This record gives sequence, structure tokens and C-alpha cells, in this order.
Amino acid sequence: MKTYRTIPDLRDCISREKQAGKRIGLVPTMGFLHEGHLSLVDNIKAHCDFIITSIFINPKQFGPGEDLDKYPRNFDRDKSLLQDRGVDAIFFPKADEIYPEDYLTFIQVDKLGEILCGRSRPAHFQGVTTIVTKLFLITKCDVVAFGQKDYQQAIIIRRMVEDLNFDLEVLICPTVREEDGLAMSSRNSYLQPEERKRAICLVNAFQRARRLYEFGELHTARLRDEMVQAILTIPEVRIDYIEVVDAQTLEPIDKIERPALLAGAIWLGKARLIDNIIIEPK
Ligand code: AMP
Repeated sequence: MKTYRTIPDLRDCISREKQAGKRIGLVPTMGFLHEGHLSLVDNIKAHCDFIITSIFINPKQFGPGEDLDKYPRNFDRDKSLLQDRGVDAIFFPKADEIYPEDYLTFIQVDKLGEILCGRSRPAHFQGVTTIVTKLFLITKCDVVAFGQKDYQQAIIIRRMVEDLNFDLEVLICPTVREEDGLAMSSRNSYLQPEERKRAICLVNAFQRARRLYEFGELHTARLRDEMVQAILTIPEVRIDYIEVVDAQTLEPIDKIERPALLAGAIWLGKARLIDNIIIEPK
């Protein structure tokens, strides 16, 4: 497994692999890897012959005052985890390799990027779609894997791939959770021990709503209310948003009659945590 730090070096490697007839798989990450990231590697294996993992803390997807400077990093540990998991190449560029000083071009998916997380992070998804587009063009990947944990991101990228006619397959892989149900996230490292215990209130609220749905409650306003009330009983948690939307279009719905996404973001100390589940009507 080799690490590439420049675009031309990675391109040389990829053209050799493509010439040998290999199907290229890409797993984009910001590093500080955990089992959630590594499950993407496991999932993509069946769909390609050569796996590239990118590690790049993308400055364009962080807003002013967000945690860009504090975002956790540990390249040596990431590298050994990826090696153990059978990754073929790491792309680990410096920021100015991706965004030279005079950089001007951005990709934006309208509407889908303005709701849910987009409300409190206005330029976030434009930063995501821009880096992901650049990674698609640099790696010429045939398949790419994203996690359901960042469901809105995955839906936006699927839409961009369709709208811009990228010739590649987008996999959305299940959320990997800690034993108590907390979705794994590099940002969980910001949590103090007491906050860590409280952090499960988000997934617990989703599970509570799922049970109410299974007992016959179809109205999303009622389900949302129950989730908000449950979270508000936990000290020092601030709600950014809790919503129930159509799982395909991300549009608000009054009743659960099609697959529905229960999604939310909360603040706990320095960490903004997101999570979601999907309810599939029988
Ligand atoms: P990040 O490094 O946070 O940008 O995440 C890189 C990729 O890993 C994204 O596709 C995420 O959705 C995915 N991911 C992060 N956490 C998890 C998790 N707990 N389970 C599954 N995928 C995850």
C-alpha cells in the first residue's frame, strides 16, 4: 500500500491500474478513522479491484468558527488501519494541492443542500460536492462508498452523480455504532465522559419514535414532538434540528406512508453530533 501526496503521482498509479483492467473504488474520508470508515472499505471490496482511500480535511466544507483547526488527526494510525484492511492506495494531499491560492470553482446541488444540516451550515454541502467532484475526476473511480450516518450528504452526492452524468456507482453503507448505539464519529473524541454518556439521547429518541410508529402513530408532527421532548430531558444538550422527511426527496411529510428519514443534529459541549434512521413502512 502506497501513500500519494500529489495529484500527478496518484494519476500515474491509477492509469497503470486502469490499463491492467482494474475497477477503481474510492472511499473518501477526513481521517481519524474508526470502524465506520473501515466498514466502507469492507463494503466496497466486492465492487472493485483496487481501493483508494482519501484522507483530506476539506477546508471548504467548514464554516467560519467551526472546528477545522481542532479536527482530530492521526495519519500514522490511519495508515496502519487501512493497511490491515487491505486498502491499495492512500491519497493524502496537502490543502494547496487541492485548492491552490487562486482556486475559484465550486459545485452546488440546489435545494437539497439548504435543508436539515444545510440550515445551520450554509456552505457545507457546496464544499462537500466540490471536493467529491474533484476526487471523482482525479481518481476516475468506478465506484464510491459513503456512510448512511451522513445520509443527506450521500443523497446529495447521488443526485450530483445523476445530474452531472458521472459514470460511477454510489454505495450507501449502514451506520456503524458503538455498543450503546451511539453512531461512530471522529467528532465523538470531543466528548467529555459525562457528555459521552448523554450522547446516546439522539439515537434513543429515534428508537422511541420508531416504537411509537410501530404502535400505530403515523403523524410526523407527533413523532417529532416526542423525539424533541425526550432529548430535552437530558441536561446540557442543545437541539440543532430534529426532522422527519421523505427518505428519497428529503422533503417534509405529514404522515409516514413511504420510507421516512428521522434525522437530527445536537450539540453537546464542543461536539455537534448528527445521526439518522430510516423507517420503511411494511
Ligand atoms: P468523514 O471522515 O467524517 O468525512 O466520513 C467519511 C465517510 O465515512 C463518510 O462517507 C461518512 O458517512 C462515513 N462514516 C462516518 N461515520 C460512519 C459510521 N459511523 N458508519 C458508517 N459510515 C460512517
